[in-house]
Amino acid sequence: MYPFRTVSVMPELPERIARLSELARNLWFSWCLRSQELFSRVDRVLWEKVNHNPVKFLLHVDGNKLKHAAADPDYLAHYDMVMNLLDEYMHRETWFEKVHPDLTNQLVAYFSAEFGIHESNPVYSGGLGLLAGDHSKSASDLGLPLVGVGILYKQGYFCQKINREGWQEAHYSFMDFNEMPVIPARGQDGQEVIITVPLPGRDLFIKVWQLQVGRVSIYFLDADLTANSREDRLLTAKLYGGDQATRISQEIILGIGGVKALRRLGITPAAWHINEGHAAFIIVERIRELVQSGVAFPTACEAVRSNTIFTTHTPVPAGHDVFSPEMIDQYLGHLYGQLGIDRDRFMALGWDQERQGFNMTRLALNHSAFTNGVSKLHGQVTKQMFRHLYKDIPLEEIPIYSITNGVHTETWAAREMKLLFEKYIGPDWRENISDQSRWQKVYEIPDRELWQTHMILKERMIKFVQHNLCQRMERNFQPIELIRESAGYLSKDVLTIGFARRFATYKRANLLLRDKERLARLVNDPRQPVQIIFAGKAHPADRPGQELIKQICDLAEDERFRGKVVMVENYDINVSRHLLQGVDVWLNTPRRPMEASGTSGQKAAINAVINCSILDGWWPEAYNGENGFAIGVDKEYNNEEIQDREDAESLYDLLEQVIVPYYYRRVNGVPREWVRRMKDCLATIPWKFSTERMVKEYTQRFYLPAAQRGVAFMANSCQLASQIQRHKQFLRDNWQQISFRSLRVHEPAVLKVGSEIFIEAELYLGFLKPQDVIVEVVYGQVGDHGLNNSVLMPMTLSQELGDNVYQYTSNLVLIQGISGYTVRVRPDNPHFVSHFELPLVKWADHI
Ligand SMILES: *Cc1c(COP(=O)(O)O)cnc(C)c1O
Repeated sequence: MYPFRTVSVMPELPERIARLSELARNLWFSWCLRSQELFSRVDRVLWEKVNHNPVKFLLHVDGNKLKHAAADPDYLAHYDMVMNLLDEYMHRETWFEKVHPDLTNQLVAYFSAEFGIHESNPVYSGGLGLLAGDHSKSASDLGLPLVGVGILYKQGYFCQKINREGWQEAHYSFMDFNEMPVIPARGQDGQEVIITVPLPGRDLFIKVWQLQVGRVSIYFLDADLTANSREDRLLTAKLYGGDQATRISQEIILGIGGVKALRRLGITPAAWHINEGHAAFIIVERIRELVQSGVAFPTACEAVRSNTIFTTHTPVPAGHDVFSPEMIDQYLGHLYGQLGIDRDRFMALGWDQERQGFNMTRLALNHSAFTNGVSKLHGQVTKQMFRHLYKDIPLEEIPIYSITNGVHTETWAAREMKLLFEKYIGPDWRENISDQSRWQKVYEIPDRELWQTHMILKERMIKFVQHNLCQRMERNFQPIELIRESAGYLSKDVLTIGFARRFATYKRANLLLRDKERLARLVNDPRQPVQIIFAGKAHPADRPGQELIKQICDLAEDERFRGKVVMVENYDINVSRHLLQGVDVWLNTPRRPMEASGTSGQKAAINAVINCSILDGWWPEAYNGENGFAIGVDKEYNNEEIQDREDAESLYDLLEQVIVPYYYRRVNGVPREWVRRMKDCLATIPWKFSTERMVKEYTQRFYLPAAQRGVAFMANSCQLASQIQRHKQFLRDNWQQISFRSLRVHEPAVLKVGSEIFIEAELYLGFLKPQDVIVEVVYGQVGDHGLNNSVLMPMTLSQELGDNVYQYTSNLVLIQGISGYTVRVRPDNPHFVSHFELPLVKWADHI
């Protein structure tokens, strides 16, 4: 094809409502429903047709309809109200300004391969992207100075169609970015920003787009430019599409291109957050920048580490990106010279001994001041996964933390639920979502009112599902009788279970299908029937995932299940929102502990939809015995077949014996006990599992300390970084010299609570000095692998014995019960962020 330039021409907006165009380009609209109505009420059919994309809407809407609206006093009142809300939102004093008025120029850069913000911008595949989107939204709400960096995939993630046989078909359509709520980002010179990234044998040109999410900007990278070859233009075509070469190219674009883009935009982040390993090449680019400015390579590594934050989401090693050394040579070999290092040293940045390759998770882990998993359980699993890197260090002290995921409450609450919150929690309910005490007020909602609200949402959801099914049947040329019939599928009076998420096999969409007879009895119980709605996409390369979809579609055609078990196609934010707002029970059946967090259940809970979930991911932290249901027990299995069987048993039992009877127990038409649970769920879940709580936690625990460290480490040409790096090297080189010369313990003859044990250790420190180490008593419960819940008590340096031998003493005061104690030495430095920033420890040989 020949090249041409594209222009997009908006209809002239009547002056009085001209700011609709500004509104259309601020994704604030995605959680302000009143603002969306400004579009939908002008042309409802078009609004649905453009998949709620206001920019596309304004490009296509009939100018007369706009004129008409601009002359309608009712519309104008609505318009003025929304614009006031927007202005108020953009200019009000925020949490961050109140708490840290001096730090408002400290900027966090948040890198993610996917962002799920709104259905009109389909550059997400699942939970990871949704989390990034919700993180950005809460950063905006809280006034946290944050910018996002991602990739603008021309074809996004695929659209799912299910064919007549029940197989998923993946459809990709090209997005026209002129129809999207993005604008070309402009540099300080006012020009559009185009950067280049070196790929093997050529430079790749990348355009930078900007998406406004309230106060936060997200910069998206796009390689679809005529300056690039045809193949290269496709590098940013698909999210998680293509082969390893595409994958590494995309990660280079995101990591290396992302840093370059921010530089060109004049943005200087104070902390860098890597959301999953895909973005870890920012580390390499930042080290390169420093080396190019004259900093030594090891110092540069230390400096970069000082203000980098890494969040991992994948509890299985096989899920981490690993590139072969040959591929690294080919794509990044040109950097070895620029970094002043050889190949081995480069590989060491992310080397994975087991998989013999360059591991993006390891690259991130090795160069981040803070690493975290996304739930308490996942934090534990991640520690286990990397414990071999922390030899002799107790699991509980491995410096991998957890910050449990949340969701952006306003995005996921149905309009009717928000009205209830306004009425019962207060008109300012959205101002302090993470304040637990305020949510107690949900108990004041009259049972009937909550139930009726739920029923409105349920009916809306059922209509939505029926429409989805009809559309698919029509497209698949199914018999007209069947299409008519499907318009009557599902009933609002039946207990409805929803299961919607990516069809990755570990999520076990088919767990409920293990015993079809038992399922049939549940579904067809004449007095207490059950119906189930499934939705979800399987990755186009995931055949087993697609087979799950097929299994469910087959079941849905089975006489016993027709009209009672359905599979909704094209799971996206819009489908997700409808389902999790309108079902009665939200089902979650991952194979524990594979679900790092899961967030869809948190969204359901905001709408008083009750979770029924395996005790995996976030659920063990939320479940209190009253606010939902737990499937199985929190135990570990080493046989998947047994695990699946037991979990399925537990799920059927739970449904038959508890959930179904409970749901159908009515008093004057209202299931009182069920409604009580709905309220428990509202009182205990949304405040805690909100991104408001989560982003505050990231800010206080990681962003602020990292930003401070970064400034200190990089001042004066990275002087402190250099000093710390040399000191760490010194500690590593000399650690083995440390030895216990003697260890004496004086225990009183009778041990009682409050008795004291006197401990005296003589230590040879070699070249190390007392200020380089902490010598401490470790005192804790006796466990299988050592001491648990340990208390640490530094020992006092009581005497220098000469020849680098030092005497340390301590008095250990005993508490009741059986405990163990010992003595150890670990490195110490005021600039270390954790006890084991260096994985070095020396335990007493015998005690
Ligand atoms: C919330 C959400 C997810 C994440 O769901 P999980 O509970 O993590 O499986 C995935 N996709 C969409 C569209 C969502 O809204």
